[in-house]
Amino acid sequence: MQPDTTLRPAPLTSAAIPPHERAKPLAKGSTYPAKDLCSQCGLCDSRWVAYVNDSCAFLHQRFEAMETAAHGRSRDLDHEDELYFGVQQRMLTARLQQPIAGAQWTGIVSRIGVRALETGLVDAVLCVGQSEDDRFTPVPRLARTPEEVLSARVNKPTLSPNLEVLEQLPGSGIKKLLAIGVGCQIQALRAVQPTLPLEELFVLGLPCVDNVSRQGLQTFLESTVSSPNTVVHYEFMQDFRIHFRHSDGREETVPFFGLDTPKLKNVFAPSCLSCFDYTNAGADLVVGYMGASFGRQWLTVRNPKGQQLLDLVEAELDTAPVTSAGQRQAAVQQGIEAYDKAVKLPLWVANLIGFFVERFGPKGLEYGRFSIDSHFTRNALWLRRNHPDKVEEHIPAFARRIISRYRLPD
Ligand code: FAD
Ligand code: SF4
Ligand code: SF4
Repeated sequence: MQPDTTLRPAPLTSAAIPPHERAKPLAKGSTYPAKDLCSQCGLCDSRWVAYVNDSCAFLHQRFEAMETAAHGRSRDLDHEDELYFGVQQRMLTARLQQPIAGAQWTGIVSRIGVRALETGLVDAVLCVGQSEDDRFTPVPRLARTPEEVLSARVNKPTLSPNLEVLEQLPGSGIKKLLAIGVGCQIQALRAVQPTLPLEELFVLGLPCVDNVSRQGLQTFLESTVSSPNTVVHYEFMQDFRIHFRHSDGREETVPFFGLDTPKLKNVFAPSCLSCFDYTNAGADLVVGYMGASFGRQWLTVRNPKGQQLLDLVEAELDTAPVTSAGQRQAAVQQGIEAYDKAVKLPLWVANLIGFFVERFGPKGLEYGRFSIDSHFTRNALWLRRNHPDKVEEHIPAFARRIISRYRLPD
């Protein structure tokens, strides 16, 4: 008798198996496809490397498609706030009424992660812990408990391979995930989202600029701060100073305008010198500080999922509307020229400029626009000089419109 083959599943051809199930992560130390522009986002350290050509933020920029898929529409370039800060349904400033000790600011991000687990909104939170022997070496993890989320608080201000943990998803039982990350990580995550073994993905984004390798961070600290090895926390703040905290609790501040620009010009990672995703276009909710007054955090809700994340903590926040004051344009134009000449100002001059800029310079959203303008123009110049072939494809429409408002040197 002939066997009944109709009851058997069709033999799997390699075409029926999704690419990521056939792929292997790249070996550590490989040359990653984005080469010198790679931000080490971690995608290539997972089997989702299979999609790298269409997903890597540095091979293929796809802001419009990403925004449309995540938020239902791309940003309105004629709406000044959307041009700068991306798709939004709400912007506000806030601080946790009971700040979390040791967090970067007041800890809104960690608190959302904790509440997302406690309420069962998600099964795990993708966040970044630190290595046991170095506070600034990032160790991405899938946190399953509030304690694990809390222990990942505070920035590790170096490139972090967040997406390497995707490799742990299959077989983990995680179906609902909250991913915390910076723009380049989120661009790659959004691109592979339809292929992930998840039922639900929430994305909590951080704004990000001027990131560095661990070695680059050492150069930065050594040229900027009195005792580089005791720094436990630092932030570029809205008073135009960098605030450093040392392990003995001592605070030290350095004016932006006093940085050793000649030494620091090449300290930032090439990925970050070619990045235009400062405000994390693909996240559901973005939590930063630069659009808020000193000491507060700045939140952009992009879509209903972002509001769902904010709902988890809103009752614990002291909130206020966003505000804006001052004029940034002249300061940005002067900054472009000073940066290009790579001058290091004497400390007293730097302090004097800082004094006037802090009192009369841009504040609130205008400070955010000051920072975006300064970084987009610098990065356009860097790209033009170092990767002229990429300029056309790589700079998104919203950034081109912003850059066109300034005179760039040749
Ligand atoms: P916390 O509760 O302390 O939580 C911090 C979270 O950051 C943790 O969940 C951790 O998982 C995550 N994290 C830590 N290191 C990394 C990393 N390397 N990559 C990805 N995720 C990480 N905001 C601005 O407004 N302007 C900026 O220019 C700006 N630059 C930034 C640059 C970097 C590299 C990073 C990581 C953040 C930056 N931010 C910036 C965001 C800001 O500094 C705070 O992280 C944010 O406001 C949240 O503060 P919090 O107290 O709520 O965070
Ligand atoms: Fe791969 Fe990420 Fe590097 Fe692009 S940035 S090459 S996706 S690791
Ligand atoms: Fe990624 Fe841009 Fe941040 Fe660099 S500046 S780590 S490329 S988001």
